[in-house]
Amino acid sequence: MADLDDLAELLFPDVNETIDDLERKYPPRRLQEGAQVTRFAPSPTGFLHTGSLFTALIGYTLAKRSNGVFFFRLEDTDTKRTIAGSGKDLIDQLAVFGLDSDEGYRPEGDLGDYGPYRQSLRKGIYRAVIKELIRRGRAYPDFCTPEDLDRIRAAQEANKVLPGYYGAYARDRSLSVDEEIARIKAGTPWVIRYRSQGDHDKKTKFTDAIRGEIELQDNDVDVVILKSDGLPTYHFAHVVDDHFMRTTLITRGEEWIPSTPIHLDMFRALGWKAPKYAHLPVIMKLDHGNKRKLSKRKDPEAAVSYFLDQGYPPEALLVYLMSIANSNFEEWSAANKSYDLSKFPFSLKKMSLDGALFDLAKLNYFSKEIIAKEPAASLLLKVKAWAASHDGALSKKIAGGEAYFGKILNIEKERKNPRKDYAKYGDIEPLVRFFYRDDYEKMVAAGLPFNPAFDKGFLAKLLTEFANGMAYGSDEETWWNGVKAIAEKSGFALSNKDYKANPGAYMGSLSDAAEILRVALTCVKQSPNLHEVIEILGEAETKRRLLALAASLAA
Ligand code: GLU
Repeated sequence: MADLDDLAELLFPDVNETIDDLERKYPPRRLQEGAQVTRFAPSPTGFLHTGSLFTALIGYTLAKRSNGVFFFRLEDTDTKRTIAGSGKDLIDQLAVFGLDSDEGYRPEGDLGDYGPYRQSLRKGIYRAVIKELIRRGRAYPDFCTPEDLDRIRAAQEANKVLPGYYGAYARDRSLSVDEEIARIKAGTPWVIRYRSQGDHDKKTKFTDAIRGEIELQDNDVDVVILKSDGLPTYHFAHVVDDHFMRTTLITRGEEWIPSTPIHLDMFRALGWKAPKYAHLPVIMKLDHGNKRKLSKRKDPEAAVSYFLDQGYPPEALLVYLMSIANSNFEEWSAANKSYDLSKFPFSLKKMSLDGALFDLAKLNYFSKEIIAKEPAASLLLKVKAWAASHDGALSKKIAGGEAYFGKILNIEKERKNPRKDYAKYGDIEPLVRFFYRDDYEKMVAAGLPFNPAFDKGFLAKLLTEFANGMAYGSDEETWWNGVKAIAEKSGFALSNKDYKANPGAYMGSLSDAAEILRVALTCVKQSPNLHEVIEILGEAETKRRLLALAASLAA
């Protein structure tokens, strides 16, 4: 009579490595007390999901905070969903956010002693563990066809019991070893299932680092651990990889909570200490008043690239995600006048759980703050790099004169409350167009929003006065005094009080006069500080604009 060793040999004749060998090859890490080993384990399905960036940020933060290790594992066992090249894209995108891993998968060759870090290259490890599970009677071959499984499901539906391959419904769980060997030798296709020892009527308890104690029904489903394509399922790969990569804390989406009993059952069966788990909230979106998961298909903001393409600074997205993670972040950031995430005392215990809602207005708020705080010189380099691949019109403007563009970026910046008009680099070009002569001329040709209360002849005269009489190259106060003198001479009231008391005696108020000057130079009623605008345009261009306009108004 054949025994389990014979079965194991027949299934995996080429596997010689044992679990003990693997334990020696991947020894426990020597880390200081309290250091956490975390990982980011995305599937290479084509793009970095905003929720995944959130997960990566938390894993990274916990590892850095504790002088631990943050590693990157590519979970490419679902070959149907794998998109070639997307592993590299993921690494590149994480690098944009500065979330570099200490070790892990690298397109040019892995980094670290616990690899390979790409699951498709770890077949030998999975097979070695499974061979041993077979020997111990904790895993078995299952010969069900898809039709057999459909029949089982139909019977379960008819009997109104839970679906799944368990108990009496686990058809091949109790085959004799001889029978198994005969079927394998006959060439019947098989998968390997884990033989659960769980009892559905009992509970499994574990302590989640965010949610505290969680109690769930014990797992009694014999899950597939090795698929017919020779690759493991998520459940098994998670247990094996996180054991041999010596992960101490699993940060993963809350959608994995229901599967945790399966994982704990396997850790127990293998005699391994399970890592800690922190199940992170999934990012939600408000859709017609209902909360739902950010969806790859429906929501462009589900892809991180959506934000990068529009020119959100990567740190703004991270800061925003941190504010979702810990609701005390904003308070901390205001008190410390800082967006430096490495200084923020992030805590899993303070994790907000009530379905983190994606809030674009909030992201814009942080982004405006961050762009406003960035010194013009470094902002220029970032905007330039972004524009080169995303904004041809802006790129052309920058190429036409970096120093000039730098001055524009610096408007109302070097002050306590800097101007905050850009939420993303994509906002810049439309707002700076008027500084560029060609665009300015086009806007003038399209019509300027002067107050119709003033006739053209009067406007022409006033603009000529401004052109010739303003104090160029002086400080703001001197310049403004000049503007006031011209306005007064032209019949405008210098104080609002005077104007209101006797409107008939004036052409208008000082703000009306300033608006005319502003519209003439910038084509809009709201522009950045006019003194700075004039200083950047320079005396010659300012005069040219005002006099050309005056001439055409007078014509
Ligand atoms: N590849 C899994 C996913 O993308 C990873 C989950 C985990 O971190 O364990 O959902």
